[in-house]
Amino acid sequence: MLLLIPGPVTTDARVKAAGAQDYAPWDNDFRQLYRQVCEGVLAIAQAEPEEHVALALPGCGHFAVEAAIRTFVPPGGRLLAPSTGAYAARLQKLAGDAGRVAVPLHVGATERVDPQAVAAALERDPSLTHLALVYSETGSGICHDVPELARIAHALGRRVIVDAVSAFGALPLELRALPAVDAVVLTANKCLEGLPGAAFAVARRDSLEAARGNAGSWSLDLADIYQHTLAPNAGPRFTPAAPALAALAVALELYREEGREARLARYTANMRTLYDGVIGLGLTPYLPPQLQGPIVVNVHAPDAPTWHLQLFVDALKQRGYVLSNFYNTEEPTFRVGCIGAFGADQMRQAVDAMGAALRDIGITRERAGLSRFIPQPLTA
Ligand SMILES: *Cc1c(COP(=O)(O)O)cnc(C)c1O
Repeated sequence: MLLLIPGPVTTDARVKAAGAQDYAPWDNDFRQLYRQVCEGVLAIAQAEPEEHVALALPGCGHFAVEAAIRTFVPPGGRLLAPSTGAYAARLQKLAGDAGRVAVPLHVGATERVDPQAVAAALERDPSLTHLALVYSETGSGICHDVPELARIAHALGRRVIVDAVSAFGALPLELRALPAVDAVVLTANKCLEGLPGAAFAVARRDSLEAARGNAGSWSLDLADIYQHTLAPNAGPRFTPAAPALAALAVALELYREEGREARLARYTANMRTLYDGVIGLGLTPYLPPQLQGPIVVNVHAPDAPTWHLQLFVDALKQRGYVLSNFYNTEEPTFRVGCIGAFGADQMRQAVDAMGAALRDIGITRERAGLSRFIPQPLTA
């Protein structure tokens, strides 16, 4: 079964095997593994160990996004949150429910965040202490220019929080060159190709010191987790997702063997195969090529009377491929992940299976409906 949902992702057999064991979280060997994994994450962020630290938090990505907002934005504090799509909307909700004020900035569903609009919004409202960004908006598939936006925030004296959950490890990130960034949030189970259950924040040490007492939640207080890491032979604070962390240790070895650029190139090849493949099936990608990121491709639902997302997902699962069974965009689009431990050959087979699954539910190429724009293949 290939997961194309796009996270958690399909993992290498060695990663799965490491997760299929029992671990004692406070054992000295595990403490060491725990610190190694955090150091591995820190290195991928191209962070400065004197200035930054990678903190592990059990749970899903949203827990870490909420933890970062609670920790760095004080109660009642205001953050500018460009509305890039479904995941930005979740960030805004997490902030609001935590008693922070997320001020939205309109971004078209198929547009990149406009740096000038961000600068203008920050200049207009000095009470916005933070800018919160989604690096790869999983809702649309668009990647936003986080380095550029973080530089703008820096120039205006504002702090930045980055949801890099679906970007981390694939898209470029050099934290040591982005001093405005308080925290970058990620999980083990997307581009790092680990198991679900372990989330992380890579954060500035000085910001963590200054943020003590902000969180209003002991569980989600990154400043407290940070204090815990300062003890000699530090291990996890509470019970961690130990198998997921042990699996991540193996996934990080595989990551270092492959290298970030090769991983991104593999995902980009998967994306191109998929993008052109669905056009070949008579379907229309949601994004034009120049906006399409390498992580997730949304595809307009066929304009056919027998289309039913769940029936399509079920038919495709029979053929060995799993897609998400919900829509993330206002118009109905199904989303397909390009990330995980597989390559373009398997994506080609997945596209063939999509064609067969469409036929299973009574949709042929002629009936799929090329309705929105004439799709341009990415490759000749
Ligand atoms: C996957 C993802 C998350 C976190 O999702 P969880 O289900 O909470 O792990 C957050 N932001 C983005 C952009 C994501 O792709």
